[in-house]
Amino acid sequence: MILKKPYYLSEIIKETPDVSIFRFKSQDGSTMNFDPGMFIMLYYKANTPEEIGRAYSIASPPGSDVIELFIGMAHGKLTSKLETAKVGDIYHIAGPYGQFRFDPNKNKKVLFLAGGTGLAPFMSMLRYIRDKKLDVNPSLIYSVRYPNEIIRKAELEEMTKSIGMNLVVTVTRPQPGDGWEGEKGHINEDMIKRRVPDFAERDPYICGPQAFTAAMKQALQNLGIPASKIKAEIWG
Ligand SMILES: Cc1cc2nc3c(=O)[nH]c(=O)nc-3n(C[C@H](O)[C@H](O)[C@H](O)COP(=O)(O)OP(=O)(O)OC[C@H]3O[C@@H](n4cnc5c(N)ncnc54)[C@H](O)[C@@H]3O)c2cc1C
Repeated sequence: MILKKPYYLSEIIKETPDVSIFRFKSQDGSTMNFDPGMFIMLYYKANTPEEIGRAYSIASPPGSDVIELFIGMAHGKLTSKLETAKVGDIYHIAGPYGQFRFDPNKNKKVLFLAGGTGLAPFMSMLRYIRDKKLDVNPSLIYSVRYPNEIIRKAELEEMTKSIGMNLVVTVTRPQPGDGWEGEKGHINEDMIKRRVPDFAERDPYICGPQAFTAAMKQALQNLGIPASKIKAEIWG
Protein backbone atom coordinates (compact mmCIF):
# COMPACT_ATOMS: atom_id res chain seq x y z
CA MET A 1 0.00 0.00 0.00
CA ILE A 2 1.55 3.27 -1.12
CA LEU A 3 1.38 6.12 1.38
CA LYS A 4 -0.10 9.10 -0.48
CA LYS A 5 -0.10 12.25 1.60
CA PRO A 6 -2.28 15.30 0.92
CA TYR A 7 -0.49 18.40 -0.32
CA TYR A 8 -1.99 21.74 -1.35
CA LEU A 9 -0.89 23.88 -4.26
CA SER A 10 0.78 26.92 -2.72
CA GLU A 11 1.93 28.60 -5.96
CA ILE A 12 1.65 28.20 -9.73
CA ILE A 13 4.05 30.08 -12.01
CA LYS A 14 3.65 30.07 -15.78
CA GLU A 15 7.38 29.88 -16.38
CA THR A 16 7.62 29.46 -20.18
CA PRO A 17 5.02 28.99 -22.94
CA ASP A 18 4.89 25.21 -22.25
CA VAL A 19 6.20 24.77 -18.70
CA SER A 20 4.60 25.73 -15.41
CA ILE A 21 6.19 25.56 -11.99
CA PHE A 22 3.97 24.01 -9.33
CA ARG A 23 4.79 24.41 -5.64
CA PHE A 24 3.13 22.09 -3.15
CA LYS A 25 3.09 22.19 0.66
CA SER A 26 2.11 19.23 2.82
CA GLN A 27 -1.16 19.67 4.67
CA ASP A 28 0.35 18.49 7.95
CA GLY A 29 3.30 20.89 7.68
CA SER A 30 5.88 18.09 7.43
CA THR A 31 8.97 18.29 5.20
CA MET A 32 9.86 15.38 2.89
CA ASN A 33 13.28 13.79 3.33
CA PHE A 34 14.96 13.18 -0.02
CA ASP A 35 18.26 13.35 -1.84
CA PRO A 36 18.58 15.81 -4.72
CA GLY A 37 17.78 14.03 -7.99
CA MET A 38 14.89 11.94 -6.66
CA PHE A 39 11.28 12.07 -7.90
CA ILE A 40 7.78 11.88 -6.42
CA MET A 41 4.48 10.47 -7.67
CA LEU A 42 1.83 13.18 -8.00
CA TYR A 43 -1.81 12.02 -7.80
CA TYR A 44 -4.98 13.72 -8.95
CA LYS A 45 -8.06 12.48 -7.03
CA ALA A 46 -6.04 9.89 -5.12
CA ASN A 47 -7.85 6.78 -3.89
CA THR A 48 -10.86 7.33 -6.19
CA PRO A 49 -11.73 5.53 -9.45
CA GLU A 50 -10.57 8.69 -11.30
CA GLU A 51 -7.08 8.62 -9.78
CA ILE A 52 -4.24 9.62 -12.11
CA GLY A 53 -0.64 9.35 -10.90
CA ARG A 54 2.52 10.50 -12.71
CA ALA A 55 6.21 10.79 -11.79
CA TYR A 56 7.90 14.20 -11.45
CA SER A 57 11.45 15.05 -10.46
CA ILE A 58 11.80 17.33 -7.46
CA ALA A 59 13.38 20.70 -8.36
CA SER A 60 13.47 22.11 -4.83
CA PRO A 61 16.46 21.32 -2.61
CA PRO A 62 16.27 18.99 0.41
CA GLY A 63 15.03 20.76 3.51
CA SER A 64 12.72 23.13 1.63
CA ASP A 65 9.15 23.43 2.93
CA VAL A 66 7.84 23.21 -0.65
CA ILE A 67 8.00 20.48 -3.26
CA GLU A 68 8.67 22.35 -6.49
CA LEU A 69 8.00 20.69 -9.86
CA PHE A 70 8.75 21.84 -13.42
CA ILE A 71 5.93 20.41 -15.50
CA GLY A 72 5.73 20.43 -19.31
CA MET A 73 2.06 21.03 -20.16
CA ALA A 74 1.76 18.06 -22.51
CA HIS A 75 -2.09 18.10 -22.66
CA GLY A 76 -2.08 14.49 -21.46
CA LYS A 77 -4.23 12.96 -18.71
CA LEU A 78 -2.62 14.55 -15.64
CA THR A 79 -1.21 17.69 -17.25
CA SER A 80 -4.72 18.58 -18.55
CA LYS A 81 -5.96 18.55 -14.96
CA LEU A 82 -3.04 20.76 -13.93
CA GLU A 83 -3.93 23.28 -16.66
CA THR A 84 -6.99 24.33 -14.64
CA ALA A 85 -5.46 23.78 -11.17
CA LYS A 86 -5.73 26.63 -8.64
CA VAL A 87 -3.77 27.62 -5.56
CA GLY A 88 -5.27 25.74 -2.60
CA ASP A 89 -6.26 22.64 -4.61
CA ILE A 90 -5.39 19.35 -2.94
CA TYR A 91 -3.27 16.72 -4.71
CA HIS A 92 -1.58 13.70 -3.15
CA ILE A 93 2.15 12.98 -3.26
CA ALA A 94 4.01 9.73 -2.57
CA GLY A 95 7.73 9.26 -2.37
CA PRO A 96 10.55 10.06 -2.67
CA TYR A 97 11.75 7.48 -5.20
CA GLY A 98 14.71 6.87 -7.50
CA GLN A 99 18.39 6.13 -7.78
CA PHE A 100 19.35 9.29 -9.72
CA ARG A 101 21.34 10.86 -6.93
CA PHE A 102 24.63 12.53 -6.49
CA ASP A 103 26.87 12.31 -3.48
CA PRO A 104 28.66 15.62 -2.88
CA ASN A 105 31.38 13.78 -0.96
CA LYS A 106 32.29 11.64 -3.98
CA ASN A 107 31.04 13.59 -7.00
CA LYS A 108 33.23 16.69 -6.75
CA LYS A 109 33.24 17.54 -10.47
CA VAL A 110 30.00 16.87 -12.31
CA LEU A 111 28.66 17.25 -15.84
CA PHE A 112 24.89 17.68 -16.04
CA LEU A 113 23.18 17.24 -19.43
CA ALA A 114 19.55 18.42 -19.32
CA GLY A 115 16.86 18.33 -22.00
CA GLY A 116 13.84 20.63 -21.42
CA THR A 117 12.11 19.95 -18.10
CA GLY A 118 14.94 17.45 -17.49
CA LEU A 119 16.52 20.44 -15.76
CA ALA A 120 14.40 19.69 -12.64
CA PRO A 121 16.60 17.16 -10.77
CA PHE A 122 19.71 19.22 -11.60
CA MET A 123 18.03 22.31 -10.15
CA SER A 124 17.59 20.42 -6.88
CA MET A 125 21.26 19.39 -6.92
CA LEU A 126 22.48 22.89 -7.86
CA ARG A 127 20.34 24.63 -5.23
CA TYR A 128 21.64 22.14 -2.67
CA ILE A 129 25.26 22.88 -3.71
CA ARG A 130 24.56 26.62 -3.46
CA ASP A 131 22.60 26.61 -0.19
CA LYS A 132 24.99 24.25 1.64
CA LYS A 133 28.07 25.91 0.08
CA LEU A 134 29.29 22.46 -1.00
CA ASP A 135 32.69 21.99 -2.57
CA VAL A 136 31.33 20.70 -5.90
CA ASN A 137 32.19 22.08 -9.32
CA PRO A 138 29.27 21.77 -11.76
CA SER A 139 29.06 22.13 -15.54
CA LEU A 140 25.55 22.19 -17.01
CA ILE A 141 24.69 21.85 -20.69
CA TYR A 142 21.00 22.60 -21.03
CA SER A 143 19.12 22.05 -24.28
CA VAL A 144 15.89 23.93 -25.10
CA ARG A 145 14.04 24.36 -28.39
CA TYR A 146 13.62 28.14 -28.21
CA PRO A 147 15.30 30.89 -26.15
CA ASN A 148 12.03 31.64 -24.31
CA GLU A 149 11.93 28.05 -22.97
CA ILE A 150 14.80 28.47 -20.50
CA ILE A 151 13.45 27.60 -17.05
CA ARG A 152 14.69 29.77 -14.11
CA LYS A 153 17.09 31.65 -16.38
CA ALA A 154 18.04 34.35 -13.87
CA GLU A 155 18.70 31.79 -11.13
CA LEU A 156 20.90 29.70 -13.45
CA GLU A 157 22.87 32.79 -14.50
CA GLU A 158 23.31 33.77 -10.86
CA MET A 159 24.78 30.30 -10.19
CA THR A 160 27.61 31.00 -12.63
CA LYS A 161 28.76 33.48 -9.97
CA SER A 162 27.61 32.00 -6.66
CA ILE A 163 28.86 28.43 -7.27
CA GLY A 164 31.10 29.01 -10.31
CA MET A 165 28.91 26.89 -12.55
CA ASN A 166 29.95 26.52 -16.17
CA LEU A 167 26.54 27.14 -17.83
CA VAL A 168 26.00 26.30 -21.50
CA VAL A 169 22.51 26.73 -22.95
CA THR A 170 21.88 25.47 -26.46
CA VAL A 171 18.85 26.34 -28.58
CA THR A 172 17.88 23.56 -31.01
CA ARG A 173 15.40 25.57 -33.10
CA PRO A 174 16.91 29.03 -33.50
CA GLN A 175 14.70 31.45 -35.44
CA PRO A 176 15.75 34.45 -37.53
CA GLY A 177 15.49 37.55 -35.34
CA ASP A 178 15.23 35.69 -32.02
CA GLY A 179 18.40 37.45 -30.79
CA TRP A 180 19.99 34.19 -29.60
CA GLU A 181 23.77 34.40 -29.67
CA GLY A 182 24.64 31.29 -27.66
CA GLU A 183 25.13 27.69 -28.74
CA LYS A 184 22.77 26.32 -31.37
CA GLY A 185 21.77 22.77 -32.22
CA HIS A 186 21.59 19.52 -30.30
CA ILE A 187 24.23 18.65 -27.72
CA ASN A 188 26.91 16.52 -29.39
CA GLU A 189 30.48 15.37 -28.87
CA ASP A 190 31.95 18.53 -30.39
CA MET A 191 29.94 20.83 -28.10
CA ILE A 192 30.88 18.84 -25.00
CA LYS A 193 34.60 18.91 -25.92
CA ARG A 194 34.61 22.64 -26.75
CA ARG A 195 32.53 23.88 -23.81
CA VAL A 196 33.59 21.40 -21.12
CA PRO A 197 37.20 20.55 -21.99
CA ASP A 198 37.67 18.65 -18.70
CA PHE A 199 34.59 16.48 -19.33
CA ALA A 200 36.57 13.25 -18.81
CA GLU A 201 37.28 14.22 -15.18
CA ARG A 202 33.59 14.78 -14.43
CA ASP A 203 30.84 12.43 -13.27
CA PRO A 204 28.19 12.61 -16.01
CA TYR A 205 24.45 12.81 -15.34
CA ILE A 206 21.73 12.91 -18.01
CA CYS A 207 18.03 13.75 -17.63
CA GLY A 208 15.29 14.26 -20.19
CA PRO A 209 12.99 12.45 -22.59
CA GLN A 210 13.94 9.00 -23.86
CA ALA A 211 15.38 10.16 -27.23
CA PHE A 212 17.47 12.85 -25.54
CA THR A 213 18.84 10.45 -22.94
CA ALA A 214 19.76 7.85 -25.56
CA ALA A 215 21.54 10.44 -27.75
CA MET A 216 23.49 11.82 -24.79
CA LYS A 217 24.58 8.36 -23.62
CA GLN A 218 25.86 7.64 -27.12
CA ALA A 219 27.69 10.99 -27.34
CA LEU A 220 29.44 10.39 -24.00
CA GLN A 221 30.39 6.85 -24.98
CA ASN A 222 31.77 8.13 -28.30
CA LEU A 223 33.96 10.44 -26.21
CA GLY A 224 35.35 7.42 -24.38
CA ILE A 225 33.27 7.60 -21.18
CA PRO A 226 32.39 4.08 -20.00
CA ALA A 227 28.66 3.35 -19.84
CA SER A 228 29.04 2.25 -16.21
CA LYS A 229 30.04 5.81 -15.22
CA ILE A 230 26.97 7.45 -16.79
CA LYS A 231 23.90 8.11 -14.61
CA ALA A 232 20.66 8.72 -16.48
CA GLU A 233 17.03 9.44 -15.61
CA ILE A 234 14.72 8.57 -18.49
CA TRP A 235 11.24 10.03 -18.77
CA GLY A 236 8.45 8.13 -20.47
C1 LIG B 1 11.14 9.39 -13.19
C2 LIG B 1 10.32 10.37 -14.00
C3 LIG B 1 10.41 11.75 -13.72
C4 LIG B 1 9.67 12.66 -14.48
N1 LIG B 1 9.80 13.99 -14.21
C5 LIG B 1 9.11 14.90 -14.95
C6 LIG B 1 9.27 16.31 -14.70
O1 LIG B 1 10.00 16.75 -13.79
N2 LIG B 1 8.57 17.17 -15.50
C7 LIG B 1 7.74 16.73 -16.51
O2 LIG B 1 7.11 17.57 -17.18
N3 LIG B 1 7.58 15.40 -16.75
C8 LIG B 1 8.23 14.48 -16.00
N4 LIG B 1 8.05 13.14 -16.22
C9 LIG B 1 6.99 12.71 -17.19
C10 LIG B 1 5.62 12.65 -16.46
O3 LIG B 1 5.63 11.57 -15.54
C11 LIG B 1 4.41 12.42 -17.40
O4 LIG B 1 4.68 11.34 -18.25
C12 LIG B 1 4.03 13.65 -18.23
O5 LIG B 1 3.76 14.78 -17.40
C13 LIG B 1 2.78 13.38 -19.09
O6 LIG B 1 1.73 12.97 -18.25
P1 LIG B 1 0.22 13.12 -18.73
O7 LIG B 1 -0.65 12.32 -17.82
O8 LIG B 1 -0.17 14.58 -18.87
O9 LIG B 1 0.27 12.49 -20.17
P2 LIG B 1 -0.30 11.07 -20.64
O10 LIG B 1 -1.79 11.12 -20.69
O11 LIG B 1 0.32 9.99 -19.84
O12 LIG B 1 0.26 11.07 -22.10
C14 LIG B 1 1.67 10.85 -22.37
C15 LIG B 1 2.07 11.63 -23.60
O13 LIG B 1 1.25 11.27 -24.69
C16 LIG B 1 0.70 12.44 -25.26
N5 LIG B 1 -0.71 12.17 -25.58
C17 LIG B 1 -1.68 11.86 -24.69
N6 LIG B 1 -2.84 11.65 -25.35
C18 LIG B 1 -2.56 11.84 -26.67
C19 LIG B 1 -3.32 11.79 -27.85
N7 LIG B 1 -4.63 11.49 -27.84
N8 LIG B 1 -2.72 12.03 -29.03
C20 LIG B 1 -1.41 12.34 -29.07
N9 LIG B 1 -0.63 12.42 -28.00
C21 LIG B 1 -1.20 12.17 -26.80
C22 LIG B 1 0.75 13.55 -24.24
O14 LIG B 1 0.89 14.82 -24.85
C23 LIG B 1 1.95 13.16 -23.44
O15 LIG B 1 3.10 13.75 -24.01
C24 LIG B 1 8.80 12.20 -15.50
C25 LIG B 1 8.70 10.82 -15.75
C26 LIG B 1 9.45 9.92 -15.03
C27 LIG B 1 9.32 8.45 -15.34
